[in-house]
Amino acid sequence: MSHLPVSHPLAEDREKLVAIRHALHAHPEIAREEAWTAAYVAERLREADIPFEENIGGHGIVATIGGQGEGQAVALRADMDALEITELSQLPYASQQAGKMHACGHDGHMTILLAAGIHLARSRAFAGKVHLVFQPAEERYGGAREMVAAGMLERFPVQRIFGLHNWPGLTAGEVVVHDGPVMAGTCEFTVTFRGEGAHGAMPHMAGDPLLAGGHFMTGIQQAVARAVDPHESAVATVGSFQGGHAQNIIPQEARLTGTLRAYRTETLKLLRSRVESVAAAAAAIAGCRSAVEFDEFLCPPVVNTAAERDIMRQAASAAGLTLAPGDTRPSMAGDDFGDFLVHLPGAYAWIGNGPLRQDAGLHQPLYDFNDDIILPAAMLLARSAEIALSQAR
Ligand SMILES: [Zn+2]
Ligand SMILES: [Zn+2]
Repeated sequence: MSHLPVSHPLAEDREKLVAIRHALHAHPEIAREEAWTAAYVAERLREADIPFEENIGGHGIVATIGGQGEGQAVALRADMDALEITELSQLPYASQQAGKMHACGHDGHMTILLAAGIHLARSRAFAGKVHLVFQPAEERYGGAREMVAAGMLERFPVQRIFGLHNWPGLTAGEVVVHDGPVMAGTCEFTVTFRGEGAHGAMPHMAGDPLLAGGHFMTGIQQAVARAVDPHESAVATVGSFQGGHAQNIIPQEARLTGTLRAYRTETLKLLRSRVESVAAAAAAIAGCRSAVEFDEFLCPPVVNTAAERDIMRQAASAAGLTLAPGDTRPSMAGDDFGDFLVHLPGAYAWIGNGPLRQDAGLHQPLYDFNDDIILPAAMLLARSAEIALSQAR
């Protein structure tokens, strides 16, 4: 059963939009390197006669569409960056950059936002302004925060913000707008244990960084189990553990990196403090020293505000889309859309990308964005803006 509407205000633009999506897919650029991507988006905005400003917080772009008469302003956001993955598909528009790939569908998100802009610029069936926010560096470095730091919210004041992400495993075109949490906040850490190094048969001569690392691995899981309120969701994952090179030498150093996830910033901060105390305790047990570093960038969770959640649900109906029934739990993955929500009320929807295939989920080498959802997703954003601007806040 199809969940995609039959007739569509952008139907005649479909071919052109799909070509744009494929061009973006073929030229992936990772966080902070989106120069070609930004120039390509700028060119498409020029073609659509939509004014814009460039280089906001890196390669960020904000385009502005004025409606009929005075009113409030709304931001619609898409992310721009690709990932360091080698694409394994044989698609005609597959990545032309070795080791880089649009494996999260941000090529699709940019196309959706351009399509929403084209529709809004044609219809102008709203009062006030809609700002299209093309945000770089979502996967790393916090591009949302960099745009805010560059004065985006002062230069383009808005009352609300909306965004979306394609979601493999959800029927194509079906929409989820969560109550409250959508995506987790994230915090990355590096723990280094250091000792003197010793003969493997003489452990009493030096501390043991590898043993400390082992204690840290188990200790941080106990922090999740015992420091975090059982009603809260939290994850601590150690993703790398490096140290040592020989069977009979206690090395001088071991290094672990990992990530913390939670739906509340307070929980993330609690876990961050536990990383420090667990590392110190592990070092004390193993007789060595510890040093903990956190990525300066703590990404807040994406949590929908109630009024904007309702607007997006109404927008889904107005766009002829189905709200997904059943289990729609949030994800422990993160999105720095949360950095806009620190300043503004807003909502972030998932739109189904179709069935989840082996090795073809988000961040996987056979992933592909579903072109059939460009038009419905564009109308989801456009209708969200129109409905929001019809309601005074
Ligand atoms: Zn991603
Ligand atoms: Zn993404």
